[in-house]
Amino acid sequence: MLTIRQIIKLCEDGVDITFKKTRQKSLKGEYSDQALEIIIYMDNIGSEYDLDITILHEFIHARDYTKPERYHDRSEKHIDEEALRTYNKRPYVLKFIKELYELK
Ligand SMILES: [Zn+2]
Repeated sequence: MLTIRQIIKLCEDGVDITFKKTRQKSLKGEYSDQALEIIIYMDNIGSEYDLDITILHEFIHARDYTKPERYHDRSEKHIDEEALRTYNKRPYVLKFIKELYELK
């Protein structure tokens, strides 16, 4: 699960989050390690819950890029499971992200 410490580290490393229109149907978000940028495609976000899970999902990708190579291609299903676990068990992590990145 994501931790507050990991979020702080990503923020300090310069990971940013931006919101754009969609280029691809069904793509909700992506993380660019080169640009250190999380992009959320709002056109494909269906609800506040959807947005919350997508934000956590992309932060997990960003966090995994700070780990050895073998973590970079974890399946989307596993990332979603971790996002859901973080959402349910550590709701303060999402709240912290929103405050840190002024997403309100
Ligand atoms: Zn993903």
